Amino acid sequence: MTQNIRGTVDGAVSGGRAVHELVIRAERALLPEGWAAVEIGVSEGRIVAVAAAGARLAGERRIELAADEVLLPGLVDSHVHVNDPGRSEWEGFATATRAAAAGGVTTLIDMPLNCLPPTVDVDALETKRAVAAPAAHVDVGFWGGAIPGSTAQLAPLHEAGVFGFKCFLEHSGVDEFPHLEPEEMERDMAVLAERDSQMIVHAEDSRTLADAPTASGRRYRSFLESRPEEAEHVAIAAVIDAARRTGCRAHILHLSAAGALEQIAAARAEGVRLTVETCPHYLVLAAEEIADGATTHKCCPPVREGANRDALWQGLLDGTIDCVVSDHSPSTPELKEVDTGDFGTAWGGISSLQLGLPLLWTAARRRDIGLEQVVRWMSSGPAAVAGVSGKGSIVEGGDADFAVFAPEREWTVEAAELRHRHPLTAYQGWPVQGAVTRTILRGEEVDGARPRGRLVERS
Ligand SMILES: [Zn+2]
Repeated sequence: MTQNIRGTVDGAVSGGRAVHELVIRAERALLPEGWAAVEIGVSEGRIVAVAAAGARLAGERRIELAADEVLLPGLVDSHVHVNDPGRSEWEGFATATRAAAAGGVTTLIDMPLNCLPPTVDVDALETKRAVAAPAAHVDVGFWGGAIPGSTAQLAPLHEAGVFGFKCFLEHSGVDEFPHLEPEEMERDMAVLAERDSQMIVHAEDSRTLADAPTASGRRYRSFLESRPEEAEHVAIAAVIDAARRTGCRAHILHLSAAGALEQIAAARAEGVRLTVETCPHYLVLAAEEIADGATTHKCCPPVREGANRDALWQGLLDGTIDCVVSDHSPSTPELKEVDTGDFGTAWGGISSLQLGLPLLWTAARRRDIGLEQVVRWMSSGPAAVAGVSGKGSIVEGGDADFAVFAPEREWTVEAAELRHRHPLTAYQGWPVQGAVTRTILRGEEVDGARPRGRLVERS
């Protein structure tokens, strides 16, 4: 059993030693250098001491992990669509951040579209901050958006603290967030390069998609054929070219097409400033296994075949892919076409904010991949890509954000028990291993009642 003992730790008050507000004892904690038995001292929301077990740090409160629990850094999810304000019937800051906390995520970065207004100028950012601040149960930061005609807004938004800018190279799914042509993207990247900001790109090429067959009906195959790998290859090549010419940092969002890994690795070897993410659904689902009509599995770019999935794992292991983030993008059951199962008209987006760690861990252990690797892909990895300081690692001086995880516990995903707004998931009934048992944000357990999340900015 986990214990949470209030009161001063026995025998540790004397001798002028610091008394921390909280001391956490863990037989297995994941530090940057690996697993260690530690005592962690926390004061004013920060990690102020990481000591070897037995150091007998003094604390006003104490958390002692159970024998089957490990202490992880709070996860960082840099790709979340909260859709609030404007489409809060799809999701919202209270529901999304409760789901995040239940999944061990202590920092999320919200995407600039699907909300109204989209986050393409400072007024829109301030509107969003005003909505998020009183509702957030975990820390929240924001990406800005780059759309046609918004070039003059990039510098002010950067100054206002966004972590970078998202653009699409094909239709975004919502008309108020139009895509950029590659030359427009490059022009904006030149502006961002001067400020060492970054462009994060939904990399599917509009022309390639226009030439592909149109998706319709309940067959997953029809949808898959409408979003060929080639669309990612072409768009990623354009991003690499623009990054090379401008010197701007670029980030490939939600990589699905493993065939693009080769050109990505070559560009990085050449010195192009490029980072890459993929998502749990591309790593645990496979096209061959998606039932017709299962529109909960529709997302863009699409989940591809099992061989592609294996190649994405390899891309993670060899370091070509930097991190794994959710691309949590919910909508209503009506828009997901759960009744008709029509892949042509259903909203594209998979909701997995709460499930990323157990899903990935369950799949990783079958591949003999350690928990430490999985957690780095979901914590320090995305923190580094987005440039979130003080998050994603258990280090002195960092925020005291932790996920307590029981890696061997087995449970079954039930959509109705998930905390995001609508009980829709691609993983209904899945048996998974590993349970987040508590989430600690700046030294206090997230209880889902009092929103204690803060807004974070690029530092
Ligand atoms: Zn997305």
